[in-house]
Amino acid sequence: MKHVLEPGHLGLRAWLNDHAYPQYRASQIRRWLFQRRVSQWNEMTDLPKRLRVALSTEFTIWTTRIAAHQKASDGTEKLLLEFGDGSRTECVLLPGASDHSICISTQVGCSMGCVFCASGLDGVQRNLTASEIVEQMLRLQLLLAPTHRISRIVVMGMGEPLANLKQLLPALDEARDPEGLGIGTRRITIYTVGIAAGIRQLANHSRRYPLAISLHAPNDHLRSQLVPVNRQHPLSDLMEAAELYFRASGRRVTYEYVMLARVNDHADHAEQLVRLLRGRTALVNLIPYNPVAGLPFRAPTEATVTRFCQILENGGVQVQVRQRKGAGIQAACGQLRRDRPVF
Ligand code: SAH
Repeated sequence: MKHVLEPGHLGLRAWLNDHAYPQYRASQIRRWLFQRRVSQWNEMTDLPKRLRVALSTEFTIWTTRIAAHQKASDGTEKLLLEFGDGSRTECVLLPGASDHSICISTQVGCSMGCVFCASGLDGVQRNLTASEIVEQMLRLQLLLAPTHRISRIVVMGMGEPLANLKQLLPALDEARDPEGLGIGTRRITIYTVGIAAGIRQLANHSRRYPLAISLHAPNDHLRSQLVPVNRQHPLSDLMEAAELYFRASGRRVTYEYVMLARVNDHADHAEQLVRLLRGRTALVNLIPYNPVAGLPFRAPTEATVTRFCQILENGGVQVQVRQRKGAGIQAACGQLRRDRPVF
């Protein structure tokens, strides 16, 4: 059965129209789902019974089942969701004192093949549909107390968002819509491995979401080894697209830099990074590596991270060290899925 939001906002209106129901019913349904957080048709008490029955025979509210639910001591919660076709993806709730973030996935697996990442170890199975992306938001929202709301989305789960923009952008429209989650554009960050063509496409989109680029290396030689798509989109092309995005959006671009001990954490790498980013409106996010079973990479020592950070600061590059969250529950993308065989 199709997800009720699969036809999109207009699609649901068309369905209602075909079945001789007024258009405002679509708004009511969306409010029940996003704001009143119901899980069943019969809870939508202001819809006529006949409509609820008709909806339930054609649409479903949930196309996923929760295959695993983990909670870390820092409050981070992770869901492993299984779709009707047996494929699985992950999403995470990062609760804060007043601010609750979620991390969502855009694909089952990933085809980018970054050598340190668990998500891409088995390649990509398929793109998620817009409603499957929205369903992650709804599932995570249900983990919050009724008075709390999601205030931030990071599209940094499994998969490469710019390889599935066609489904991602309508899903983010639902997140922004006041009848949906009502989250402002500037509170939704898209992470990308750095597909220059996709960044240019995003620069032409009407909504300029904050952008984070997974850089991970300051030169083409090393980056091509760690992030294989660098061979198709070398740094010169990527940095040009990033600059274009900055000019179009007016937003500082964030560069993610996962620190791998003795691979990309040398002082010389930090100096090269300064040369690459100096003069740009940029923020570097240093991420100590979250080790993945079976992969040879390790996190650097704290002293190494501090020294790297200082070189960037001294070079005039804005930098922060990202806090690791949910370490006890394998919250680095793709880890939980790999840990669970399909039964
Ligand atoms: N495909 C997108 C988004 C998914 S990955 C991208 O590449 O940005 C989200 C971020 O986590 C990326 O910066 C990715 O390189 C990083 N990452 C992947 N595996 C990691 C690990 N084991 N430890 C720390 N960061 C990791």
